[in-house]
Amino acid sequence: MDMDLENRLVSGDYLPEDDGDNPLRPRTLQEYIGQEKVKENLSVFIDAAKIRREPLDHVLLYGPPGLGKTTLAAIIANELGVGFRITSGPALERPGDLAALLTNMEEGDVLFIDEIHRLPRTVEEILYPAMEDFAIDIINGKGQGAASIHLPLQRFTLIGATTRAGQLSAPLRDRFGVILRLEMYTPAELARIVGRSARILDVNCEEEGALEIATRSRGTPRIANRMLKRVRDFAQMLNDGVIDRAAAQQALDRMEVDALGLDMVDRRLLQAMIQHYNGGPVGLDTLAAVIGEESVTIEDVYEPYLMQLGFINRTPRGRVVLPAAYKHLGLEPNGQTSFE
Ligand code: ADP
Repeated sequence: MDMDLENRLVSGDYLPEDDGDNPLRPRTLQEYIGQEKVKENLSVFIDAAKIRREPLDHVLLYGPPGLGKTTLAAIIANELGVGFRITSGPALERPGDLAALLTNMEEGDVLFIDEIHRLPRTVEEILYPAMEDFAIDIINGKGQGAASIHLPLQRFTLIGATTRAGQLSAPLRDRFGVILRLEMYTPAELARIVGRSARILDVNCEEEGALEIATRSRGTPRIANRMLKRVRDFAQMLNDGVIDRAAAQQALDRMEVDALGLDMVDRRLLQAMIQHYNGGPVGLDTLAAVIGEESVTIEDVYEPYLMQLGFINRTPRGRVVLPAAYKHLGLEPNGQTSFE
């Protein structure tokens, strides 16, 4: 299997092969599986906004990639019956880019900014008055002749998504009325997502096959859908297209995704910590250098799931490997650090 992060089967990040995912995206809160607390809160806010005929408060969604933030933002707009525009922090390079979007919004529309923690400072500053007073001030011209133009906007709802709420500046974070954290999905929820996707894709997937895929999907719907498609290809060749438990197991084993959804990179990370640092504590940057990945990638992509499994922990002195990880790798904590 390609160990390149870009092509990791178990990466929660969007990959080119996820392109066909549009039909898999739920369109209503009811179709959106799991995240019960978030859905309950949102449906109250949505109903209240509709009754008051006012735009919904600005919403911040945070959680690891692939958990359904973009999907949920589109659902919110759909449930409100308003327009939906989508952009991202890095795509908004200049204040003018954001101004152009904002001045084209209609009353009540939803503007979704993905990776909002990556907004350039100058753009973020335009966003403050836009969120608070529904107006922007644009400086026109340069030097002596420069004039500030005050532009009123239609009242809109901003939905921001980020993998880490902690990286947002306080003034930006404070302007969101609703802050919701998406949790990793349970295997049972993911199995329902796989079952739903299989029906949409017209794949013959048995319940046990769906559960097998679900347990190896790191709590992440995007990964579950991606695995379903790859397992389908294997099942077509090996099992008349039927995804039962054995077919799912065999396919995922071949792709070197283990029973808990760890791939080569996860195992390499744990092994490096055990072999070279006796299980830690290891600093994040050191770890990044040892396995040749970026620190942010380790924090955003690998760690959330390894922590969820209780395999590693963050301590003030660095990351440590926990006993459950040794057990999973078939090792004894302390001492035995040899690998085949
Ligand atoms: P994010 O924006 O958090 O990275 P997305 O909203 O793009 O994640 O979701 C990734 C994929 O997972 C979508 O294509 C969608 O089909 C699927 N998905 C996400 N959440 C759910 C859910 N709650 N129920 C069903 N499918 C989901």
